[in-house]
Amino acid sequence: MMKQGIPEQIKLFKFATKALIFSQVYQVRDFPRISALASNQDAAVNVALNFSLEEGRIPCIKGEIKLNLALTCQRCLDEVSVHLEPKFQLAFLKNEQQGEALSANFETILNTDEEFSTIEFITDEVLISVPMTPMHKHECASYQDTQPINKQKRENPFAILQQLKNKE
Ligand SMILES: [Zn+2]
Repeated sequence: MMKQGIPEQIKLFKFATKALIFSQVYQVRDFPRISALASNQDAAVNVALNFSLEEGRIPCIKGEIKLNLALTCQRCLDEVSVHLEPKFQLAFLKNEQQGEALSANFETILNTDEEFSTIEFITDEVLISVPMTPMHKHECASYQDTQPINKQKRENPFAILQQLKNKE
């Protein structure tokens, strides 16, 4: 099967039945909820999605995403580059009983939507892997240095994310 770009909408059962394989290189700016957290808008987001039908009727997506995000270090407030490589193997079930025969390698999701947004789907998988408090690996600020930051209660970039989620 030749690899092709990922369509804007995932048609779950249709793609799974055909065992389609997609890959595409996006930019951080293509994912509004991710780009709200990061300052490297032009950076590449490599996405590969393999669709399959398991047990003859359960649509599954095996995927791999690779990206670097320039986030704000929560200790020194400078930029910190975080490499993320979320991998997932999802089975979309109509009901929990459907999953009983399925390999334990699959993470199961109860889902009745045949069609959903590719960008939103990828966004959710990336955001799960983003550290809640990104920090440099080295001691970028001393304990004393971090005190005023805590007192100021600087707005956490993830508060924005929460707001976006609440609007949905
Ligand atoms: Zn730092």
